[in-house]
Amino acid sequence: MPLIPPRESLQPAEPVILPRAAHSISRSRIDPHTLQVLYRLHRAGHLAYLVGGGVRDLLLGRTPKDFDVGTNATPQQVKRLFRNCFLVGRRFRLAHVRFGPDELVEVATFRRQATAEDLPEDPGDHHLLAENVFGTPREDAYRRDFTINALFYDIATFSIIDHVGGLADLEARRLRVIGDPLVRFNEDPVRMLRALEFAARLDFALDETTREGIYARALLIAEAAPARIREELLELFRHAVAGKVLRQAQACGLLEPLLAGYEGDDATFALLDRLDSRTRDGVKINESLVLAALFLSRFLRQCPPKTDLPIGEVLELANLDLDLHCGYFRIAHGIRHQARELLVGCYRLGRGRGHRGERRFLQHPATPQALELFQLWLEASGGDRQLAAAWHNALSQPDTPAPAAAERKNPPRRRRRGGKRRRTPPPA
Ligand code: ATP
Ligand code: MG
Repeated sequence: MPLIPPRESLQPAEPVILPRAAHSISRSRIDPHTLQVLYRLHRAGHLAYLVGGGVRDLLLGRTPKDFDVGTNATPQQVKRLFRNCFLVGRRFRLAHVRFGPDELVEVATFRRQATAEDLPEDPGDHHLLAENVFGTPREDAYRRDFTINALFYDIATFSIIDHVGGLADLEARRLRVIGDPLVRFNEDPVRMLRALEFAARLDFALDETTREGIYARALLIAEAAPARIREELLELFRHAVAGKVLRQAQACGLLEPLLAGYEGDDATFALLDRLDSRTRDGVKINESLVLAALFLSRFLRQCPPKTDLPIGEVLELANLDLDLHCGYFRIAHGIRHQARELLVGCYRLGRGRGHRGERRFLQHPATPQALELFQLWLEASGGDRQLAAAWHNALSQPDTPAPAAAERKNPPRRRRRGGKRRRTPPPA
């Protein structure tokens, strides 16, 4: 018999209910289409709750990224209620209620964790069923990841329903896994990364057992589906917490499986902090910039700009740096190519002005973004900011000739005799 009872049995059987007068969520802060869906479900006699991150963010006074709806209506029942409804997903059947071309409200039927008895005899179907076993609202709260992500806002009474102690954790600014972290991380190792992400985004402390759970289960992250890791990794950048989270991930042994074996270094984390602060200023990130930022430090260690290697060799080193990661995470060739251009661009920028091919380099579409990255790199590593200023100048006035060759370490190579020559027009 386990010495410590499971968390669920520690929680009171009845949920904590916060009536409208006792909380700060006003309907004026909920998206009108989501409200419309909630009201219609409610009028049709179903339970209709706002669930997940939306409730958490509204209670914290933040603007939710999106609003999700939970209900006891089955996906088929939801479909019958809304003309503009489409059922999506095989593993996790959801109803999408569309409003116009760009807006949709996601409606999920309450679910519970599948048990052995729920699963069909054919093991081939297990993965389809495991996430589609309908349950009660309480069971639905318990299948979620963190207590603060499992709060419900009931449209029938405008009250908050808390089955898992999420309100107390919000108050204490604490991120806590629902149930036993070791078990929950075994079930889904991506939750470890999400724990670090939410703690950083909300500036919450990790609950002690959750932290210990991450240390104990870190290596399991290697077993998570690469596509999910890739998506969560991008989320860190979108939410401008990549530097903070990846530093912590390194400390608890989570980082190497996230970066296909790369163990990270302080210069990388400092660069990611700069990139995050640029994102907080409202500049969008893209995946090729993310990849280039992750691997720039290692790449420049392998080919420091002062070595002035032939560009073919530099390209090869950039490829080597990206190949393992991009192969494992099945990152599209176009994104990988763009990331390589950024790395090589930073190498060229680091060499300074006046090298062969500068004119073409200045006209290359990747160069402005390479310069942005390079500037962040200089700021993060305390490098010579004059260098970035000189390149900015060159980009804004591409026709100004490059400074004299005195700046160059190596003179430009002579064209080999018999090599390709530009055809000169015959004298008039
Ligand atoms: P945000 O959208 O602001 O990033 P969120 O809390 O809405 O935050 P989502 O990734 O959109 O996060 O997931 C919606 C909800 O689904 C979560 O709040 C959580 O309750 C549940 N959830 C998501 N991922 C998991 C998971 N791996 N395990 C258990 N529950 C999860
Ligand atoms: Mg969400």
